[in-house]
Amino acid sequence: MVSRVIPVEPFDLVIFGGTGDLARRKILPALFRRFSDGQMPEEARIIGAARTEQDAAAWAKWVEKALKEFLPKAELDKALIAAFLERLDYLAIDAMGDGGWKELKGKMRDGVTQAFYFSVGPSLFGALAERLHSFEIASSDARIVVEKPFGRDLASAKALNATLAEHFDETQIYRIDHYLGKETVQNLMAIRFGNVLFEPLWNAQYVDHVQITVAEEVGVGGRGAYYDKSGAMRDMVQNHLMQLLCLTAMEPPNKFEPNAVRDEKLKVIRALDPVAPADIVRGQYKGKHSYLDDVEDPASRTESYIAMKLHIANWRWNGTPFYLRTGKCMKARGSEIVVHFKDTPHSIFEADAGSRANVLSIRLQPDEGIDLRVTIKEPGPGGMRLVDVPLDMSFADALGSDVGHVPDAYERLIMDVIRGNQTLFMRGDEVEAAWAWTDPIIEGWIERAEKPVQYETGSSGPEEALMLLHRDGRRWRDIA
Ligand code: NAP
Repeated sequence: MVSRVIPVEPFDLVIFGGTGDLARRKILPALFRRFSDGQMPEEARIIGAARTEQDAAAWAKWVEKALKEFLPKAELDKALIAAFLERLDYLAIDAMGDGGWKELKGKMRDGVTQAFYFSVGPSLFGALAERLHSFEIASSDARIVVEKPFGRDLASAKALNATLAEHFDETQIYRIDHYLGKETVQNLMAIRFGNVLFEPLWNAQYVDHVQITVAEEVGVGGRGAYYDKSGAMRDMVQNHLMQLLCLTAMEPPNKFEPNAVRDEKLKVIRALDPVAPADIVRGQYKGKHSYLDDVEDPASRTESYIAMKLHIANWRWNGTPFYLRTGKCMKARGSEIVVHFKDTPHSIFEADAGSRANVLSIRLQPDEGIDLRVTIKEPGPGGMRLVDVPLDMSFADALGSDVGHVPDAYERLIMDVIRGNQTLFMRGDEVEAAWAWTDPIIEGWIERAEKPVQYETGSSGPEEALMLLHRDGRRWRDIA
């Protein structure tokens, strides 16, 4: 198995917010890795833009420092870094002002792909789109990349979509949800639609339930002021968990093509039943360090944890619950989608032989991988005793060392922007549908003045969330 790296077309990529945290931690290291792998052509150029007054050399120094901080030493080849830094340029531009734009226009080349990464707060998206247009910088097929949060409710998401639509066509807008760039998330689609084995079982007749977990060990830290206005529902469920749910539950698209995939995802969101208050648990971490210590409002009712039971009202999933949970200050960090299949309809073995249902888990982090547990006979004498063992689907073992490192989500997504492939990006109507589902739930909490329950820092979440499954005769998979 030989890895194939196909270089992309020459491009000019402008990173607005080029001096920010996301640029240094994710975007620039991802670009360097694609460069190291030979995917970036000779003519590729990356232009940083932010208000900070500095020249290209100063920005390049800062970028070099970021690469050294966020990439493993083994990847830091001196000559490669020097060659990468040569592709960088910088301009001081205030999104709200008129300085620097003419210079930016002067730097953009004809005949190469243009991409503008809006790695700034959403309040600046409109100003950037407007100026790219009024200074006639963006070509007719230029791409813009926007980061989360995409709105904080349906009204603000609609307003953002409308602002961007004034200057850019939907085919030019790349709304990033980095969960979609993860290797295993794409493998979920490969497994479902590239094999005959799973799809016939992928429905309420054979799937007992699905669990989707995104657990973080860290608290809100220094982001308390921002987070307290958002909470787990807005920050994680409306986007990341919803996207994972869609990919798990969607019907097979007729092609692996942007609008075909996104049409199917949209149908899942629209088929979600309203969620009863009894099917939601919201929590705040407490302990030596509590959520209320991390935010300004001592009476905050914002949730740092949420668990919910969802129903998808369609033929495929009628009667199969999807349990979602996400939280901060949990006992371990881990994100996974776990499909629990039903028991065999009838056991031919003795009652004490033991039997376990098949479980397919798709792990997104920390170690991306897929694991299918199947029941076999325990080896050795002693009659027919059943155990469940993992069927190993690790890419590294199966494909050998040629596959190299598992690329970071940002590596894939940025290259998809350059290639003009929107499959792994959220379309405007998807984002709006997700908010249309989210809004009434949040409004209900406010109307009922609901307070989150407490859970211990370093635990698996509130007791009430365990009960959410216990009452259905199920249990959460342990967060490893
Ligand atoms: P940040 O560290 O605060 O950086 C903001 C960037 O925007 C800086 O480069 C800043 O540079 C620039 N900027 C601010 N005002 C500007 C203006 N008026 N004109 C031009 N540039 C301006 O924020 P960040 O963490 O990088 O986040 C950027 C975006 O990504 C946000 O929308 C955030 O929600 C989203 N995001 C971030 C992460 C993450 O891990 N950091 C993850 C997901 C999403 P100057 O001060 O030099 O202008």
